Amino acid sequence: MPVDEKLEPILAEVLSRNAGEEEFHQAVREVLESLGRVVAKHPDYADDALIERICEPERQIIFRVPWVDDQGRVQINRGFRVQFNSALGPYKGGIRFHPSVNLGIIKFLGFEQIFKNALTGMPIGGGKGGSDFNPRGRSDGEIMRFCQSFMTELHRHLGEYTDVPAGDIGVGGREIGYMFGQYKRLTNRYEAGVLTGKGLVYGGSQARREATGYGAVYFVESMLARRGEGLEGRKAVVSGSGNVAIYTIEKLQQLGGVVIACSDSNGYVVDEAGIDLELLKDVKEVRRGRIADYAALRGASARYIEGGCVWDVPCEVAMPSATQNELTGKNARTLVANGVVVVGEGANMPSTPDAVRIFQSANVLFAPGKAANAGGVATSALEMQQNASRDSWSFEQTEARLAAIMRGIHDRCAETAEEYGAPGDYVLGANIAGFVRVAEAMRAFGVV
Ligand code: GLU
Repeated sequence: MPVDEKLEPILAEVLSRNAGEEEFHQAVREVLESLGRVVAKHPDYADDALIERICEPERQIIFRVPWVDDQGRVQINRGFRVQFNSALGPYKGGIRFHPSVNLGIIKFLGFEQIFKNALTGMPIGGGKGGSDFNPRGRSDGEIMRFCQSFMTELHRHLGEYTDVPAGDIGVGGREIGYMFGQYKRLTNRYEAGVLTGKGLVYGGSQARREATGYGAVYFVESMLARRGEGLEGRKAVVSGSGNVAIYTIEKLQQLGGVVIACSDSNGYVVDEAGIDLELLKDVKEVRRGRIADYAALRGASARYIEGGCVWDVPCEVAMPSATQNELTGKNARTLVANGVVVVGEGANMPSTPDAVRIFQSANVLFAPGKAANAGGVATSALEMQQNASRDSWSFEQTEARLAAIMRGIHDRCAETAEEYGAPGDYVLGANIAGFVRVAEAMRAFGVV
């Protein structure tokens, strides 16, 4: 879809002002493509540079992270926190530790987070952070020292009413623990609501670990239900094998899906008997191993394809749950030829724009990450609620809230797409519904 001519100068400005930040350009372009229909219907949304303001982060923090490795050598990484938009609540979004992290990556993630968080209906703004630190092969001690140094700088920018980080790629329960410990020590405050994804013994929420994956499957279930279909007996492929992938597989299996493949950055495994989730959890969560280790331990039913592409495996349900731009136009054509029915993005922006176009023109149900993977951050908001009321809820109660939130997001996207003349277009529905909520709040505040 081309960008509406009224919005073209805005896109041109974003591209030139943020030169070289390709992923950020991609994320902005996709949202602006959807907003043409909004300004056609409500020209006042283009007033007061509202859209331009949404594309410009409120604050961007870049800092040095020095730490000492196990050999006693000093290492230097770069830390980032982009506080993108606080119209709906404190900045909220994860922290990513991965060698690919740079300012453009964090800006794309922060931008997506604004709309995702708005879609949840909860009082959270959008932000994202991270570092180009590579946790692969690092000892526990090195991870701890890195997290402490990262937080030593970041803590002055955080607060339960200001900015509330959580995990993302490379940041899980262990890292959140080290960062919370350092925050508490530096501030001398037991401010549980300053981070989410915490351990259950110190203020974490039940179901937060499962939430992103479970939520993505609930979203897919809702899309299928709208067509009078279900997940029972469907062959599914989930890319990745991290937190999102593992709990996507778990919920797919609980709802009767047959997950036959998953992957990591080295290759993929096909397991015609269905992925053995207990084994996968043991390999990934306990041993911190690779998918090749899973294949070796699983025995005859599993085949490991080093360097292969998981999207070559025929399936009806595809859930990209690894990283941005992991599913290309070529992969989408293969999936369509193999009869894919529904694609639900567990990762952030895993499908390239080409891939999205191919799915949509083939009438494949397509759920964009900013809607389908919102269960993680929504449950983070539930964690903040529990922290604020010094309460903790049961797993069942929390999961029921998550399920209701995901159905709500699904319905909001579907209804918005219909209202704007594009029934079934969840990309358009998500972008517009998210934007309208943020824009209303920003308008109320005047020019700030
Ligand atoms: N990193 C997750 C996301 O992309 C979760 C963020 C959070 O819980 O704050 O939405």
